[in-house]
Amino acid sequence: MKAEIICVGTELLLGDILNTNAQFLAKELAALGITVHHQWVVGDNEGRLAQLIDQAMERSDLLVFSGGLGPTADDLTKETVARCFDDTLHLEPSILENIRAYFAATGRHMPPNNEKQAMVPTKGGWFENHNGTAPAVWFRKGTKRAVLLPGPSSELKPLWTEQVGPFLADGRQVLHSLTLRITGIGESHVEEKVGHLFENENPTAAIYAKTGEVQIRITARAASHAEGEKACRACAEHFRAILGDVIYGEDANDLEHTLVQTLAEKGLTVATAESCTGGLVSQRITRVPGSSEVFGFGFCTYANEAKHRLLGVSEKTLATVGAVSWQTAAQMAMGAARVSGADIAVSLTGIAGPGGGTAEKPVGLVYVGAVRGEDVYVAKLLLGNRDRQSIRTGAANRALDFARRLALGLSMPGADKLTAEELAQQKQAMKE
Ligand code: ATP
Repeated sequence: MKAEIICVGTELLLGDILNTNAQFLAKELAALGITVHHQWVVGDNEGRLAQLIDQAMERSDLLVFSGGLGPTADDLTKETVARCFDDTLHLEPSILENIRAYFAATGRHMPPNNEKQAMVPTKGGWFENHNGTAPAVWFRKGTKRAVLLPGPSSELKPLWTEQVGPFLADGRQVLHSLTLRITGIGESHVEEKVGHLFENENPTAAIYAKTGEVQIRITARAASHAEGEKACRACAEHFRAILGDVIYGEDANDLEHTLVQTLAEKGLTVATAESCTGGLVSQRITRVPGSSEVFGFGFCTYANEAKHRLLGVSEKTLATVGAVSWQTAAQMAMGAARVSGADIAVSLTGIAGPGGGTAEKPVGLVYVGAVRGEDVYVAKLLLGNRDRQSIRTGAANRALDFARRLALGLSMPGADKLTAEELAQQKQAMKE
């Protein structure tokens, strides 16, 4: 089924409001397996609206409208669609009653022009609006259908979710999706390992490279969302069996949400010590509601002096091997754990660029330290000569992932564990 979304309103054309209804409707229609071929914005102008409807009806099976169902003279979507669909409008007494009751409940009298909102299609039908006065309506002409929704999102969304969506879905297949979120492994590596699973027809799976992570979106076409979910879950298991714990989460749960949730479940806390990321990791952790339960200390130690004074990083280490070194990363994490008393600490020190790189320590070189108890790890990342923000995001992702892995007792890919001797040396250096 082919559909077009038509948003009516001069405010939209002038750029006074953002067309969030189009985004919502587009996603919802896709989820129903209805293909949207066009999205239009048209002002409150009967001639132009009628012309657009005539053209859209020739091409598409379903037209979905938002806006222009209000009580004033410039609200003319319903009247115009009625004409184009060879239908008439009649007064529906029960809606008029509802509108009167709506006004009475807010201590007002219904102005006479609101009667217009109680007009419904004769051949089509309507859906009661529980959050406003204008009902949604639908028209039919042959195989063509139109659905009209009021503009305010607080009315359009519940009308869609509770009534219009199910009405359109009736007897049709739905699309159900699930997104697997992956970190610590690049897109080409993922492709190499699970490429054969992208050839499946239903569910389908596609790979997307995002900043600092890879996502696999699995989509099933099924008779119901419950069935679709079952098919997506079964397909996800195939990916999990191969990719294992680089899959850190699903759908909207990003790395920081997953970490905070994991720490809370395990009753653990984390501290951060950041140089090149300047607090990005602590900012991301504290974005998550409830993070205060698992996070209390974030050290932003940009200068060497801060690393020494706040975290006890050895001045000698800073003077000899430098701030961007595995030793400094280890000491930063160890210092953060000691000062905060947190169960886990992560640290970052590196060169985010664009300046400051040398042949020995190029832009994109970042050391990530991670500590849990007596286990101290450092990973050397070479994030390449990318822009500053990508380097910082990529490095922050690794630190968040290391904290997650330590909380779950997983392996630490790409990181080296300090030997007993190395650990003793770093402890000694911090004492001097
Ligand atoms: P009402 O019954 O309240 O008059 P209506 O169906 O006539 O609603 P409009 O008058 O076109 O709708 O718009 C009312 C309000 O709804 C706008 O001021 C705006 O806040 C919101 N709105 C309308 N269209 C959109 C859209 N496409 N995306 C987001 N918000 C919208």
